[in-house]
Amino acid sequence: MEKIKMTTPLVEMDGDEMTRIIWQAIKDELLTPFVDLNTEYYDLGLKHRDETNDQVTIDAANANMKYGVSVKCATITPNKARVEEYGLKAMYKSPNGTIRSMLDGTVFRAPILVKGIDPVVSCWKKPITVARHAYGDVYKATEMKVDGPGKAELVFTAADGTVTRKTIMEFKGPGVLQGMHNLDASIESFARSCFAYALDLKQDLWFGAKDTISKIYDGNFRAIFERIYEEEYMAAFQEAGITFFYTLIDDIVARIMKSEGGFVLALKNYDGDVQSDMLSSAFGSLAMMTSILVSPHGYFEYEAAHGTVQRHYYKHLVGEETSTNSVATIFAWTGALRKRGELDGNEALVDFAGKLEKATLDTIESGKMTGDLIRICNLPHKEKLSTHGFIKAVRATLEKSL
Ligand code: NAP
Ligand code: MG
Repeated sequence: MEKIKMTTPLVEMDGDEMTRIIWQAIKDELLTPFVDLNTEYYDLGLKHRDETNDQVTIDAANANMKYGVSVKCATITPNKARVEEYGLKAMYKSPNGTIRSMLDGTVFRAPILVKGIDPVVSCWKKPITVARHAYGDVYKATEMKVDGPGKAELVFTAADGTVTRKTIMEFKGPGVLQGMHNLDASIESFARSCFAYALDLKQDLWFGAKDTISKIYDGNFRAIFERIYEEEYMAAFQEAGITFFYTLIDDIVARIMKSEGGFVLALKNYDGDVQSDMLSSAFGSLAMMTSILVSPHGYFEYEAAHGTVQRHYYKHLVGEETSTNSVATIFAWTGALRKRGELDGNEALVDFAGKLEKATLDTIESGKMTGDLIRICNLPHKEKLSTHGFIKAVRATLEKSL
């Protein structure tokens, strides 16, 4: 078979630990034998980030903006222990945080559904994609402990010196205070990313907040979503036969439990934090989730939702056999290759991405899987494979379909 050609480079961001091992194995077994891989390679492994004073992360994000599509391996976000372990010059910021703020993007997470691993909620038949706003609110709040009686006020001093004041509370005794904010520009980007992504998937978009209680703050989120929808996306949504609706966050939660899935759920920062953990554990496992960063300017970054699986890596280093799930990383590659193919009008590449995803799911459905899935899978015949054993099994399935 002739290898599939690629016209535009895909930005490739390599990473750390067990996922770096998986990364190489996926390329060797599942990609380079079939695709003439055209990537621009950035090594975001912690050692190379340190050598470049983290410049490589910035270069990679710039390349993402130049070419449009990237695929990223999981990376270590250094803490104190990592600074010692790797002898780092600094405690670098999270690469995902750096890339997200440069691309101004929103992260969309969706479960990868497979027969034999059933969602805890029995009526869920299709994936639910969660889009979490990643700026502000309680994550960028200022807090204060109040020790005794006194008056708390919200004070805003405008650039021209005008002062606006509102009383928060006349404290009679001790208590707590919190001040938080958000920005129209950030909410607008978030809204546009959500509308664009729902259109891309051809799925309905739900947005929930609490504007009955928080009339100004959450009311602003609702107003921005509704304005941008009407001005920029309503016609395209109607043409695609999909809908957008806003409802209260508590109503959203109740509706999710009775739905069959198959929609995009846009949530404020805190709601998204809580709901995405609930949805991912109810659907199965983090190793069976896709994660895509979508920028309102049309840049895409594909990654796995899980981390570098450090505990498995240390076993691997001392020569023990591992059984690490590579599905989310395989789907990061297929997602990125499909998007590259769509943008370049490269049907062979789009087709290959679909076949590799199908081969991955067929392999699991035939009973061959990694240890994490053995525990939650209800197929009658299951065989636990090693990290490399699973990838080789996917290759065997793939070769039959090509
Ligand atoms: P993690 O790598 O997601 O792993 C946590 C545990 O979840 C593992 O020990 C393993 O459980 C299970 N697990 C996760 N992915 C799995 C897979 N593919 N196959 C099988 N089991 C899997 O999270 P962490 O241990 O908290 O973080 C490790 C490093 O990853 C940290 O340095 C963190 O900074 C980084 N991180 C990176 C990203 C990213 O780049 N996107 C995201 C999160 C964390 P068992 O050990 O019980 O088998
Ligand atoms: Mg969380």
